[in-house]
Amino acid sequence: MEREYDAVIVGARVAGSATALCLARLGHRVLVVDRAPRIGDTLSTHAVLRTGVVQLTRWGLLDRVIAGGAPPSRRMVLSVDGATMPLPADETGRVAALYAPRRHVLDNIVLDAARRAGADVALGTSLTGVVHDATGRVAGARLRSTAGERIVRACFTVGADGLRSRVAAAVGAPVLDHRPATCAWIYTYVAGVGTGDLEMFYGSRRIAGIFPTNDGLANVYVGVPVTEADRVRTDPDGLFHETLATISPSLAERIRAGARVERFRVSTGLPALVRRPHGPGWALVGDAGHHKDAASGHGISSAFRDAELLARSLHASARGDEPERAALAGFEARRDALSHRMHEAVCGLASLDWDGPGAIAHLATMGEAIDRECDVLWALDTAGDTAPVAA
Ligand SMILES: Cc1cc2nc3c(=O)[nH]c(=O)nc-3n(C[C@H](O)[C@H](O)[C@H](O)COP(=O)(O)OP(=O)(O)OC[C@H]3O[C@@H](n4cnc5c(N)ncnc54)[C@H](O)[C@@H]3O)c2cc1C
Repeated sequence: MEREYDAVIVGARVAGSATALCLARLGHRVLVVDRAPRIGDTLSTHAVLRTGVVQLTRWGLLDRVIAGGAPPSRRMVLSVDGATMPLPADETGRVAALYAPRRHVLDNIVLDAARRAGADVALGTSLTGVVHDATGRVAGARLRSTAGERIVRACFTVGADGLRSRVAAAVGAPVLDHRPATCAWIYTYVAGVGTGDLEMFYGSRRIAGIFPTNDGLANVYVGVPVTEADRVRTDPDGLFHETLATISPSLAERIRAGARVERFRVSTGLPALVRRPHGPGWALVGDAGHHKDAASGHGISSAFRDAELLARSLHASARGDEPERAALAGFEARRDALSHRMHEAVCGLASLDWDGPGAIAHLATMGEAIDRECDVLWALDTAGDTAPVAA
């Protein structure tokens, strides 16, 4: 049977929409599906760090994020054991500010861009399985919506369907690294507390932060050891304020002086997980392929990075520049070369097992890894589709 699409992409948030955008702009026929009937908020705070801003800029979408009401943060202010370190958004001048857009705003901007680039979009559509051809290669997706079940034939089925990826399960994607959850999170939205900076606080083996987001609100969060997950679930209000006071009494006072305008959202802990991101007829991108703790503030940025790296590899293979296996192995090598140091540092930070100098060392490693990936992404337009990346 003739293939209907070059790629069917499962998941229409940051990883899936960005992959669809990049592939559609390279001239491929793409279908992106999501089981959600609309792309609203999801369990996530909002920092888009330098890598993410570089990608939004390169894709011509940053203006839409700004027009959507996300305020610019020209500084990131790190506070470790009470000592404050203000850092410019970017020292290279590529990025003027960092942003923390609400997910219903950001994710829809990328999805709309994919649609405008020619991708077909089907919301309210779940993947229930994959189909194989006679050689065992994945040859498409089994999809269900209110209209019933259908099979969509595609050269590639891409799982952008998050940590618990159904695509990964269906293709038996090997797990290369798994580390249990160490950190649990509570966040909410508060009016009247923002300084305009992205503020992150580390101390007493706890983490907190304030991200200025849409509608004049601050997205305020705390991270606590996963051993406190029961209390995260049953008493988020009490634990939230207690954690702020433990890290910094003045921070706690500031937040108490503001007005909380939304309920608490919680994550009781998620593992760090790396999967092999490709095989015959399938690929994984975003959290489905590489998930790290929210302590990174970098899941959105990683998704944007890997979406483009994958799209370029698929394009190189479709164009005949590289055999498929080599192109996809190249994608995995580039992903890993750019994410390995960051992954170790994030696992270290999320362990909450550090003193002040230990936290600073993890943050410095993350900063260096981000600088490296910004350099690589910025050079992509001149470096060719699949240039190797040194580890
Ligand atoms: C508490 C918390 C705070 C965070 N804060 C930040 C932060 O400040 N900055 C940052 O960069 N990152 C942050 N992250 C991480 C970030 O949210 C993720 O890395 C990011 O959302 C991953 O995007 P994704 O597109 O890969 O997957 P997801 O956002 O998980 O999207 C997957 C999509 O796939 C769809 N889907 C799943 N299964 C199916 C199926 N069978 N059929 C069809 N569709 C399906 C889902 O409906 C969903 O829309 C945070 C995470 C948490 C938990």
